[in-house]
Amino acid sequence: MTEKGAIFSQNVKQIAFDSEHLKKMRARYDFFMCVAEECANHYANIELEKSRAFNIRNKAFKYYDKLLVDFETNFMNNGGTVRWARDAEEAKQMVYNILSDEKAKNVVKTKSILAEEVGLMPYLEMKKVNVTETDTGDFICYQYNERPSDPSHSAAHKTKTEIAETYSEKFGVNNDLNAKQLMTVTRKVLNDKYLNANAAITGADFIVADTGDIVISEDEGNVLKSVAKAKIHIVLVGIDKLIPSIDDISVLLPLSSLYEVTKIKSKSYFTIINGPAKDEFVNQKIYVVLVDNNRSKMLEKEQQRRIMTCIECGACHSVCPVFNTIGGHVYENAFPGPVGVIQKIADGYEESAHLATLCASCHQCEQYCPMNIKISDLILRNRVEIAKEDGSLLGERRVFNFIMKRVENRKDMDKTKEFINRLELKQLIKKTWGVHHEMPVFPEKSFSELWRSMNESEE
Ligand code: SF4
Repeated sequence: MTEKGAIFSQNVKQIAFDSEHLKKMRARYDFFMCVAEECANHYANIELEKSRAFNIRNKAFKYYDKLLVDFETNFMNNGGTVRWARDAEEAKQMVYNILSDEKAKNVVKTKSILAEEVGLMPYLEMKKVNVTETDTGDFICYQYNERPSDPSHSAAHKTKTEIAETYSEKFGVNNDLNAKQLMTVTRKVLNDKYLNANAAITGADFIVADTGDIVISEDEGNVLKSVAKAKIHIVLVGIDKLIPSIDDISVLLPLSSLYEVTKIKSKSYFTIINGPAKDEFVNQKIYVVLVDNNRSKMLEKEQQRRIMTCIECGACHSVCPVFNTIGGHVYENAFPGPVGVIQKIADGYEESAHLATLCASCHQCEQYCPMNIKISDLILRNRVEIAKEDGSLLGERRVFNFIMKRVENRKDMDKTKEFINRLELKQLIKKTWGVHHEMPVFPEKSFSELWRSMNESEE
């Protein structure tokens, strides 16, 4: 086990036995399951729509190199600027350099999983940029200096009472505010930030090759408020968000908000930006920072790259029994849950080996995935790749092969005493069996011996 794996294992044990945490996760799971079926029933033929969506995303894979250049050309023709970032470090620096060149001191930011992935907020804070998160759930998490625990319900691990107490400390309000009052406080704090912002940083759901458009969905209106007044708009987006045509969003956008469980309907706002706003009030500049950060490596993996068709609807982790036990923070990944587990393989053995254990192969996620991604199969493939890379497994593999050969032949098994068989079995499964299970007990006599003695006594 890697050093990272050992620490991770301790964290998992700690959180998995925290009954308060489990209660919160359970409430979240029950809520999702209550409405999930109803969400899918909004379609007359959901399966047809799923296969359409999958084909659109796959088509983008085939022509990625050409489509990315098409996007860049069209976006620049629309008046925007494109920067290419190879990794997280470059992405953070590029965003900072733009802010610094444009002398933007006050920045508002909207929810972006990629920003979490590259560690943008801590980086900008370190550089003394005054940056405020405007997504309500993420805003709450930042009051605790925590990253969001879940892409769709960032603050699901906090109770209303906990939030009210923190708001009281931070903003000097009463410590017994209800949910509506807490929202009013949040809006008041954020409204001041929107008004004074020089720059806005957003993510994007999709970037469109044939028009150079940026497509952003949201359910709070904070994206619109953020970009409305800011002179500089920076869009931080992964190259995997590319789609071939603007027509494709009629299929992809409704599916991406299929499980918007808070409303049981599609997201409230879709924004399509095709260039900087230019009118009597705003003379805007818009930059797209296109980030690779191992996405090209993922594209090279013929099977696992299917995860890049993910449209981040949030269903897989909402139903996953593993996620619903340990929560999002343990995954050490911006996108926690099954998707994050698969994505991590592109970061190499050290980063992904321990995460690959986080699946019980129950296949629940696949039933709900609107992109028909065979999630548990892909996690299994990660495990195979990891096992091949793990040099420490070589000795184990030899022992395993030796024992397997013996187990396959009953005569060989009968030659040895039951305690030797038990020892071998223990060796074979001790890692996966875990400390909370009792080892199966071998009978003192084998089936052949019992059969023989039975026949002898009959004779
Ligand atoms: S198959 Fe694995 S990843 Fe999918 S829901 Fe089950 S445990 Fe979670």
